[in-house]
Amino acid sequence: MGDLVYEIDDRLYVNLTNRCVNDCTFCLRRHGPGVEGASLWLEGEPPASEYIERIPSPGRYREIVFCGYGEPLLRPGPLAEIAAHVKGRSDTPVRVDTNGQARLFLKRDVLPELVGLVDAFSISLNAQDGDTYERLCRPAFKARAYPAVVEFAREAVRLFPRVILTVVRLPGVDVEACRAIASEMGAEFRVREYIDKDSDTITQGSRETEESS
Ligand code: SF4
Repeated sequence: MGDLVYEIDDRLYVNLTNRCVNDCTFCLRRHGPGVEGASLWLEGEPPASEYIERIPSPGRYREIVFCGYGEPLLRPGPLAEIAAHVKGRSDTPVRVDTNGQARLFLKRDVLPELVGLVDAFSISLNAQDGDTYERLCRPAFKARAYPAVVEFAREAVRLFPRVILTVVRLPGVDVEACRAIASEMGAEFRVREYIDKDSDTITQGSRETEESS
């Protein structure tokens, strides 16, 4: 069983699932079982109670981040339950890292259900247009995916205090065009540096360069 929660510096990361509706060319899951010493590949999907018992003192962290190996909003029920536990015992901000396609895979708008439980969303924009997104992220929802990501981000900006759009710096990604999309919708913007595990020159996705929106 992989680690359900793991610490990096002063943040606690919550690993809900291996599943995802994308198959990104740069995904960490393509390169090994974990990150920063944590083993992330889960053999099942434990109930929220198993996560909650591992987070007895959420107030000791700077931030609680739902990310994991897969897409955390594929398990919105446990995510909300764990976030409510954090909010009930601390002022620690809760962030969800997501591919932004929840409306497609859940077939409902989940964001209103998370108001008051989640403080920030980090949404993987990853591309300046749908064609580039499909090439890099290979979404199961094909051409419907990118417009859904953009729409999800707009709705998140409307409902939540903090939204960050992210891209991975890769050939074909127009970082400045992506920055403009973030700026236009009022979101922050971050560029993740790609690290090629195969050549040992990067650690893709795990190192972030914060840039102004
Ligand atoms: S959206 Fe994230 S978890 Fe899903 S395949 Fe892409 S990088 Fe991996």
